[in-house]
Amino acid sequence: AKEDGRNTYRFFEEDMGTEVNDRRELILDLRNAAANGEMELYFQPQYTLSDYQISGFEALLRWNHPTRGLVSPGDFIPLAEDTGLIVQLGEWVLEEACRIATGWPDHLRVAVNLSPRQLRGNAFGPVLIGALMKSGLKADRLELEVTESVLLTDTEDVVEALHQAKSLGVKVSMDDFGTGYSSLSYLRRFPFDKIKIDQSFVRSMAYSDDSISIVKAVIELAKNLNMTTTAEGVETRQLLDMLNDIGCTDAQGYYLGRPMPVSQANELIFTCPQA
Ligand code: C2E
Ligand code: CA
Ligand code: CA
Ligand code: CA
Repeated sequence: AKEDGRNTYRFFEEDMGTEVNDRRELILDLRNAAANGEMELYFQPQYTLSDYQISGFEALLRWNHPTRGLVSPGDFIPLAEDTGLIVQLGEWVLEEACRIATGWPDHLRVAVNLSPRQLRGNAFGPVLIGALMKSGLKADRLELEVTESVLLTDTEDVVEALHQAKSLGVKVSMDDFGTGYSSLSYLRRFPFDKIKIDQSFVRSMAYSDDSISIVKAVIELAKNLNMTTTAEGVETRQLLDMLNDIGCTDAQGYYLGRPMPVSQANELIFTCPQA
């Protein structure tokens, strides 16, 4: 048993070693990924429930690694955040998303995810204005999605940066609502335009009446605060109907459309007459 224990331990150590090397390698690759043209934005449609029309797209980052293939954001965004590379990468995402959205009809918005570090200090304002100016995108067609983790750190810088965005006309959404520890207090700290109800709540509506009650309450709360609600992770027709019944304003999820390359998003926009 002792032997086994030691072997297991050694195996575990080696495994950790590979992971550390892997991490180092990925970080090195990440440094030049955007410059090498390996980064790509995918777009996932968001629909207004009252008329089932597309209201916009969320930009989701994809990394086409030369040897590893497609690396998911769940694997490289945390690395980019830890190393600070997210600041540069985030700027690329913002510019690229704005540029692409200028090719769409005026009523369609583009939503961009932000990491906490991008809002630290006072560098974000100029980056945002730069992206809008370079692309010529009207500010109210851009949405910034922030999670609670964004408001958790350096609150004053962050709140100031978000207020500046709002004063330009940019919309601000609270992402993954309900998953953090104090989502409610953040609603008081910043006037969001939209609440995105986290996938975990939406999914569990299919089998839990309590979850339905929670989502209903969030929608009610949002209405009273003059915010719209987007349900995330809608994977079935049943969920879509339930959300419509309880007054959710918008929805996003695999049932409605998966994240897709820009060419496909454009096809969806320009071949679907009502889009
Ligand atoms: P998120 O902002 O909550 O984005 C939604 C995630 O859920 C996306 O995963 C999307 O593909 C996935 N999703 C959408 N609909 C469904 C559905 O019906 N079912 C299921 N199971 N999943 C669905 P993705 O693209 O892998 O992105 C993961 C996370 O990575 C994002 O979560 C976001 O936090 C982060 N991320 C992605 N792009 C960026 C970026 O450009 N900048 C930053 N800072 N973070 C990003
Ligand atoms: Ca998001
Ligand atoms: Ca989300
Ligand atoms: Ca998330």
